[in-house]
Amino acid sequence: MKGLKNYHIIIAKSNEYLKMKNYCFRHWKMFFSAIIVCAAVMVISPIQAQNSNSPLKTIIIDAGHGLPDPGARGSYSNESDIALAIAQKLYNKLRDSLPQCRILMTRTDRNLPGGLHDKDEANRWRAKFANENHGNLFICIHCNDVNPIHHSEIVGHRTKVYYTGHGKKRRRHTRHVPIYKYWTTPNPVVGTETYVWGVNKNESKQKFIQDNQDSSELMGESVDSSNDYFTTSEEKILAALRAKKYFARSLLFASLIQNEYIKEGRASRGVKQRETGIWVLHATAMPSILTEVGFISNPKEEDYLNSQSGQDEISGAILRAVIKYKKQIDSGIIKSTD
Ligand SMILES: [Zn+2]
Repeated sequence: MKGLKNYHIIIAKSNEYLKMKNYCFRHWKMFFSAIIVCAAVMVISPIQAQNSNSPLKTIIIDAGHGLPDPGARGSYSNESDIALAIAQKLYNKLRDSLPQCRILMTRTDRNLPGGLHDKDEANRWRAKFANENHGNLFICIHCNDVNPIHHSEIVGHRTKVYYTGHGKKRRRHTRHVPIYKYWTTPNPVVGTETYVWGVNKNESKQKFIQDNQDSSELMGESVDSSNDYFTTSEEKILAALRAKKYFARSLLFASLIQNEYIKEGRASRGVKQRETGIWVLHATAMPSILTEVGFISNPKEEDYLNSQSGQDEISGAILRAVIKYKKQIDSGIIKSTD
């Protein structure tokens, strides 16, 4: 029995030793874990700080149109598919280059967003989606379009018979009339342009909102005016305030995009202000632009817009503009409240 007792004591002592050993090991483990966590925090925190300080957290990419609204048609492609292809490429580039930003697309397939079939309703949905997701930048991608040039030429004459008078006074006459040949050629207009919702000096934007005037001269886009969208005076006032609040940043971003297009050797038709017709720019509570990436009506640009290299160049130009815009906003050169 004594031997058994000693045996118990030895077991108890060795258990104590094991407990001590485990205790120390656990503490060393905790100590090392703490060091690893501290190191990780030191490495990660500058990124987190940078993210949390940056006013550019969520970027909304909006591919214009969507079936059943194909937008402008070229000789073999349509605007809505090109806009989607470029939007998807831009999404991938932004996701890779700005992992700290949330990148959202209004539509990811060929159809209008939100499961809608009416393009005006879909435009309201786009703006609502951007606002509800607290977007900080709205990038709307479209293609431009102009009518072909109409030509006519006299290719001959024919004799046309006509009569005057009645009864006995009725007389037969003939005259030569020209025969015309009519044809069209593609419009040679090419290049890019980027729109912002303008607030001009004479406050015509506010005037527009109040009067529901519309004097569209926008090529390529059928007008989706604000008519009937802002029904109460409160909505009209809020829309006017939004335009003022985001104008400077929208203009900055639009200018950066056009500069990047020029660097790619594209023709630039400049930054333009709209006071009518592009409702998504009007209704989004964030800096917002609509970029026309080229003319689908021009055969060479249609090829360019459909090519992988063209879509890469365009999405690359917009990406570089976003990065430059973010740097300026982050550095405080342009205040996020401007
Ligand atoms: Zn369009």
